[in-house]
Amino acid sequence: MATTPKRVAVFGSTGSIGRNALEVIAASNGRLQTAAISAHSRLDELVEQAKQHQPRWVIACDARAARQYDWSDLPKACELLTGPDALVQVAGEPEIDVLLAAIVGAAGLDSTWAALESKKTVALANKETLVMAGELITELARTSGSQLLPVDSEHSALFQALQAGQRSEVAKLILTASGGPFKHLSPAELQQVTVAEALAHPTWQMGPKITIDSATMMNKALEIIEARWLFGIEGERISVVIHPQSIVHSMVEYVDGSVVSQMSPPDMRLPIQYALEYPHRAPGVARRFDWRQPLKLDFEPPDRERFPALALGEECARSGGTTGAVLNAANEAAVGAFLDGELHFTEIVPACRSVLGAHHFEPNPTLDALLKLDSWARQEISRWVCA
Ligand code: NAD
Ligand code: MG
Repeated sequence: MATTPKRVAVFGSTGSIGRNALEVIAASNGRLQTAAISAHSRLDELVEQAKQHQPRWVIACDARAARQYDWSDLPKACELLTGPDALVQVAGEPEIDVLLAAIVGAAGLDSTWAALESKKTVALANKETLVMAGELITELARTSGSQLLPVDSEHSALFQALQAGQRSEVAKLILTASGGPFKHLSPAELQQVTVAEALAHPTWQMGPKITIDSATMMNKALEIIEARWLFGIEGERISVVIHPQSIVHSMVEYVDGSVVSQMSPPDMRLPIQYALEYPHRAPGVARRFDWRQPLKLDFEPPDRERFPALALGEECARSGGTTGAVLNAANEAAVGAFLDGELHFTEIVPACRSVLGAHHFEPNPTLDALLKLDSWARQEISRWVCA
């Protein structure tokens, strides 16, 4: 095993994935080192992380909040940088080996792009960037020769299960979904869902945006698109099955009928560790099974009428082009509006469908075109909310 530590930039370090990543790094026996951390808000927590992990760079992405903050407690050895450009700068620094991309939403795109351009390994939690620009990002990773490793638990499972055969031997990818907190609610009950209810996920502790995405099942829709680009498998060969225990993290079905899965208790520290330590495995901090206890695994098909987000994800995975960017931006804006009490829970997906239907489709868009559509789709959601 290598003696020099891998230097990791943890972008979005105050989030659910970021905090788990810092735990994984701290428990790695010196194999991993925190070289940079970043946050948009909660700057007290960022300073505490800096004290504990002693990174070379500390990035406060919101420049205005950073100007108003008293940084006197920040360790003197840390270099403070502010504003979103700092993410791009640090992602390209030669002293960074791996970027753990754990910023939420399209705000994570530029730094992931910069890291791949400078041939860094990217451990990608931020699925939104792949939904938005998956074709361009995976193409960039290929041409620059950099590694793009999944952190999303389903995609980590698929990445591991894909090592059991050749790509030409894969029949299909089966993404598992917990089904979220509302899988058995009637349409009338879904209408009444409150923000607090939608924020209470049965099996995972996550940031607010992905928790709402799990409740609408838009998270699974985004994951279909994420898998389509990460593994270069057509959308038609990616399906979803409800698995309430979140133990089988996804499956690959091979042409001979064999199904290979990766299983572990629901704990994001394991896929984070796998991506950071790749290609090695090491003892870590993730929870383990107690095989003396009974373990039950259930699978059932999703109710596609109750969760129309799935069809949207499938359509975007099939069509490619500009659809992912529009769906992602519309969903980010709609989830924001729901969290602010401006949109009903059951309006999130119809709002996304309406914006997707209104956009001008392009099969081979540039990054610039995708960024423009991202802004356009957010404005369309604001119009929908005000209407
Ligand atoms: P979170 O809301 O808990 O944390 C988000 C982090 O991003 C915070 O550090 C925040 O300060 C930072 N951030 C927010 N807006 C920003 C902006 N405009 N510019 C720069 N930084 C900004 O989110 P999370 O649950 O940790 O999720 C992070 C990403 O990982 C998401 O893309 C999510 O889909 C993905 N993911 C999360 C989980 C999970 O278990 N939480 C699982 C799979 C994938
Ligand atoms: Mg996931």
